[in-house]
Amino acid sequence: MEINQSEWTVENSAALYGVDLWGTEYFSINKEGNIDVRLPTSNEKIDLYKLTLDLQERGIRTPLLVRFPGLIRERVQLISSCFNNSISEYGYKGKYTGVFPIKVNQQRHLVEEIVEFGKFSRLGLECGSKPELLVALAYLDTPGAYIICNGFKDQEYIETALLSQKLGRNTIVVVDRAVELDLILAASRKLQIRPRIGFRVKLHAQATGKWNESSGAKSKFGLTPTEMVSGIRKLQEADLIDTLELVHFHVGSQISSIQSIKLSIKEGARYYTELHGLGAKPSIIDVGGGLGIDYDGSSGKSDSSTNYSEQEYANDVVSIIQSICDEKKVPHPDIISESGRSLVAHSSVLIFDVLGINDVSRKSIYHDFSDKDTRLVLDLYDLWQNLKRDSVNEHYNDLLEIKRDIQQLFAYGVLSLEQRAKADDLYWACASKLCDLARNNDEAGDIYWELEKELCDTYFCNFSVFQSLPDSWAVGQIFPVAPIHRLNERPSRRATLADLTCDSDGKLDCFIDTDTEETQKYLEVHELKSDEPYLLGVFLAGAYQETLGDLHNLFGDTDAVHITLGNDGYAVEHFVQGDSVREVLSYVQYSKSEMLERIRKGSESSIQKGTLSRADARLLLKVYEEGLDGYTYLEQEE
Ligand SMILES: *Cc1c(COP(=O)(O)O)cnc(C)c1O
Repeated sequence: MEINQSEWTVENSAALYGVDLWGTEYFSINKEGNIDVRLPTSNEKIDLYKLTLDLQERGIRTPLLVRFPGLIRERVQLISSCFNNSISEYGYKGKYTGVFPIKVNQQRHLVEEIVEFGKFSRLGLECGSKPELLVALAYLDTPGAYIICNGFKDQEYIETALLSQKLGRNTIVVVDRAVELDLILAASRKLQIRPRIGFRVKLHAQATGKWNESSGAKSKFGLTPTEMVSGIRKLQEADLIDTLELVHFHVGSQISSIQSIKLSIKEGARYYTELHGLGAKPSIIDVGGGLGIDYDGSSGKSDSSTNYSEQEYANDVVSIIQSICDEKKVPHPDIISESGRSLVAHSSVLIFDVLGINDVSRKSIYHDFSDKDTRLVLDLYDLWQNLKRDSVNEHYNDLLEIKRDIQQLFAYGVLSLEQRAKADDLYWACASKLCDLARNNDEAGDIYWELEKELCDTYFCNFSVFQSLPDSWAVGQIFPVAPIHRLNERPSRRATLADLTCDSDGKLDCFIDTDTEETQKYLEVHELKSDEPYLLGVFLAGAYQETLGDLHNLFGDTDAVHITLGNDGYAVEHFVQGDSVREVLSYVQYSKSEMLERIRKGSESSIQKGTLSRADARLLLKVYEEGLDGYTYLEQEE
């Protein structure tokens, strides 16, 4: 985006960072230039910047995950009403209910909130493992809500699921792999409980997007047509054919194209009607997850985007199932969907502070030059003074050669450290000036982009990509990033964001480019001020990131807060303190007491040797112990 206009307004910022696009109706920029979050059921907004400063005053630290349960409530209501709209518009005979897949965000407060907000629509839970089933059994108390059991299953998982029916839970065990049917039948005989069964079908239709491996012949889960036919026989022989209640499929997450969704629904619905043809009477189709989020606002032009709305999704699911069932004269099934990402992604914002900057661009030169300087330095100085717009190509090639020379002459011992410093500064000054000359210069398009990339600043940020945004590292997912304040000022720099880890992959260097709807390697940012923090927000971070995150360099969970709208502004509903150093160390089997003991022993022997005073020993232990109790991230000075 061209940032060379004289007037700069919050509207410019909204366009530059794409807030209008990915923020939908939840995020916007206020007159003061700060990002607002709009909470539902009122038009009241929360100023994210002021909120962060307020929280810091209460001792809550950055990096900070701010969750807005109100946004989850709104998403739960939205998806449910989209399906209900479609059902009434098309005269569909079945009902809709959702189940939330716990793996998308397993945090207890969040699961409790989802269950609470979903009561009105009987929202259930989907589990993909034994631990998740145990969570569902303890926390889902909505009468009639489904618990859908997916994932790899052993006898214990299946028996727990069957027994939960005795608790009055509406639990359906999905046969994800053919062998599980035998386990279910055995458990059912042993416990004398009639199972409630689903078949997961393996779809041929391959989803588009980054997470499409859940579909196709090679996918982990799902029954082949042959396995389904023999499964039906087994159920008939055991006189349990009526226990097959549900047909399930899930083609992947964040499906960017509605065309792939339609194809998979068509195929899945065909299996449903065919099972009826074989004498089974399933009454539910579970269409899995996959409903995506427009992370970059490009309306489907990238994998981090979608080319459809929630309502279009619901319309297609309902109308396709309807037409296929009508054609085969099979009753309309109830519909379950397992949307996770779409329910919770909006609800979390990651906020972190910028610690410093590594800037290479130079506007001016602070050195004096004389005939004592080396030839190379003087040549560079000469080049810098004589750069011309119509010879950008030639200058650029000269500069590349000089860059090589600087490195070689230094390595061979010809260039002193002082001369190297002058040469480096001049090199960057030339590159900066050349970049300006190449901008909007038809002869030098590629050179401009090369220089632009090289001259981009690095902003050092107080967070860990591996802990807080693992999908950005692992699969190159784009998240919207923007400063949460100063948006009425024109950003004057371009930066990549480096995290605290000592890993070259620990950075964010792929951002939304609202001009081209593609991506760019830098984020437009503001000059840092010495007396004010510079706070950046990563948005739509509520799905999948938290438990996928890892402890690279032993950076732990961040502080997290749940913010709701109180009578008088906002209220901090829950505060979940991030990991202390001690907690993170205990995950890798270090114990606080043993570490303190070792330091104590070490200081005792130094005291004996006379290299450490008793007072310093006491101080050392105090600092060490405080360090163990501290935050794993950089803390503000008191
Ligand atoms: C992960 C998963 C989901 C969630 O998918 P989203 O794209 O996040 O909605 C749903 N169902 C199953 C079986 C899953 O494994």
